[in-house]
Amino acid sequence: ATTQPLRPIQPLSDQLISQIAAGEVVERPSAVVKELLENALDAGATTINIRLEQGGVKRIAITDNGRGIAPEQLPLALARHATSKINSLNELENVATLGFRGEALASIASVSQLTLTSRTADAQHAWEICGVQGSDQKNTVAPSSGSQGTTVDVQDLYFNTPARRKFLKTEQTEFGHCAEVVRRIALSRPDVAFSLTHNGKTVDHWSVNDIAKRSAHILGSEFSGARLPLEETAGPLHLHGFIGLPTASKARGDAQYFYVNGRFVRDKLLTHAVRSAYQDVLHGDRYPSYVISLDLDPALVDVNVHPSKIEVRFRDSRAVHQFVFHAVSRALAQTSATAFGAVPS
Ligand code: ADP
Ligand code: MG
Repeated sequence: ATTQPLRPIQPLSDQLISQIAAGEVVERPSAVVKELLENALDAGATTINIRLEQGGVKRIAITDNGRGIAPEQLPLALARHATSKINSLNELENVATLGFRGEALASIASVSQLTLTSRTADAQHAWEICGVQGSDQKNTVAPSSGSQGTTVDVQDLYFNTPARRKFLKTEQTEFGHCAEVVRRIALSRPDVAFSLTHNGKTVDHWSVNDIAKRSAHILGSEFSGARLPLEETAGPLHLHGFIGLPTASKARGDAQYFYVNGRFVRDKLLTHAVRSAYQDVLHGDRYPSYVISLDLDPALVDVNVHPSKIEVRFRDSRAVHQFVFHAVSRALAQTSATAFGAVPS
């Protein structure tokens, strides 16, 4: 490993920096879907349409009716480390948007053919810009058509990074991951309508406020018939959602949806707190099903732990664990009388 000739130290090009970052930010098509959906939600969209082709590898096109991007801002939207969401450390520590790193669009554009089309409320028409391949080219903004909101059209993902493309699984597997990302987000945002098509066929279609339909579809009909509402507040912590009765438990932990300030997370501490609450009512080899949202002051949780933001760190993790454990335990205990056939006294 010492055979490399001595070479001068040189700064990496922006394009290469984005391609390196893309390895972390967009490791597969579903990660692109997640980033684009989060941008749409941050823009205040109430309707989001997702069109995928060939598991997202051929195409991921997401259209929202959010506030849009002004034409003079379009090049900045594609620039690395450029964001409208934070501009100070203080804002980072209190961030309420899903995004803030300003690197998703730049990373995606560096490994695909990307077109961004957007129209703000006061514009006469839409404008579009293509992501550049190679830093010597200039992004030009051109007039386009479309109603208010934004469309991000990502084609031929990883066309210029064959090593990455080799790690992709079958079309059906990649599509499955994309659909799961859409469902995760749809479960947490019943106030937003979503539609998902794959190769021209409608796969999911959810209208606003149909949370019963969404959870039945996503968690299975056993869950809808055997779920308990959860609602608890303690100081700055607020927990709400639905937890499944033991009869809705599963052999795999694939029906567990936990959100922190609207963000889907996989967190050992939270999973453990819920699992412990179920300990007395569930066999060790069964997994509870749930959709739980924890909302708290953004200053009490660090979401800037990993680029995908799927992990979080709580300032007072003991307090969070206890709160979640007790809330779920109480919900289970309150109904255990009827659920397990005991006669209420
Ligand atoms: P981040 O979301 O971390 O700010 P992104 O690279 O994902 O970084 O997006 C860069 C910027 O482009 C955002 O800060 C936002 O201003 C704008 N943007 C991206 N997608 C949309 C969208 N769907 N609607 C409106 N603005 C968007
Ligand atoms: Mg973003």
